[in-house]
Amino acid sequence: MKVELAPHRGFCAGVERAIAIVERVLDRFGPPIHVRHEIVHNRPVVEGLRAKGAVFVEHLAEVPDGAIVVFSAHGVPKPVRKEAEARGLRIFDATCPLVTKVHLEVARHRAAGRECVLIGHAGHPEVEGTLGQAGGGGMHLVESIEDVEALAVADPERLGFVTQTTLSIDDTAAIVDALRARFPTVRGPKKSDICYATQNRQDAVKRVAPGCDVFIVAGSRNSSNSNRLRDIAESRGVPAHLVDRIEDLDRGWFEGARRVGITAGASAPESLVQGIVAALERWGGTTVGERAPRGEGIVFALPRELRSR
Ligand code: SF4
Repeated sequence: MKVELAPHRGFCAGVERAIAIVERVLDRFGPPIHVRHEIVHNRPVVEGLRAKGAVFVEHLAEVPDGAIVVFSAHGVPKPVRKEAEARGLRIFDATCPLVTKVHLEVARHRAAGRECVLIGHAGHPEVEGTLGQAGGGGMHLVESIEDVEALAVADPERLGFVTQTTLSIDDTAAIVDALRARFPTVRGPKKSDICYATQNRQDAVKRVAPGCDVFIVAGSRNSSNSNRLRDIAESRGVPAHLVDRIEDLDRGWFEGARRVGITAGASAPESLVQGIVAALERWGGTTVGERAPRGEGIVFALPRELRSR
């Protein structure tokens, strides 16, 4: 059984930054600190930070007055930020800069009097945060081409669109095409909102999956980008499994497999990937190709007040 690792995988610059923000705030101010929503969608990462004193909450009401609150990498709706400010909470914002870029696009569309269509998955915290950037409505969420066909807008000539950063590139392209076909003057971003990390990880799975008998994606079930990686492997006819912990591996998946592909979502640590590789090697696998993840040369700066230790 050959084991091949996707060269682009695992932690992206936004996740590295978000984890570093929580760690530095813990170092500087001591536990407990409150984090609104899971800082990134990965169970081992969240459990590790919880053990160091981070308290994860879903609502600001759970944060005591005078406490520190960190906003997760997915971003928050404007009213949440305003409420935290009004209560005098000390805020550290771990929103990924690429998500902030989408928030600014929404603000530009609304300021120009355009309604804004968000292509994304309902209920995902990034989507809730982006929808919550426009005061007074004017936002429409679409998840499919059917949603585009059913869209009712105030003025078809005054419309913009943005997308969730971690969607499947292929699905998004089809929805954008449908939008442009129905609303020829719709304004979109100059460059896709799909982030570099999502693009690189999806491209790598497209290269590695053909020829594999099984594909493993290190990542949690609530991680949007990890789910898309699994979808891409499956769309190539390869059975694919999300694995959050080594214990999730099922030896039966690999019976008769001659080639196994492995990748990791942008919020999954490399230690999990190497643990999966070690388990497969114990079960008779031989790793082929590059073992270490390929660097992407992207680093996002920490907030100024956290830069020095
Ligand atoms: Fe930012 Fe992309 Fe990472 Fe999300 S996946 S945190 S948008 S770099």
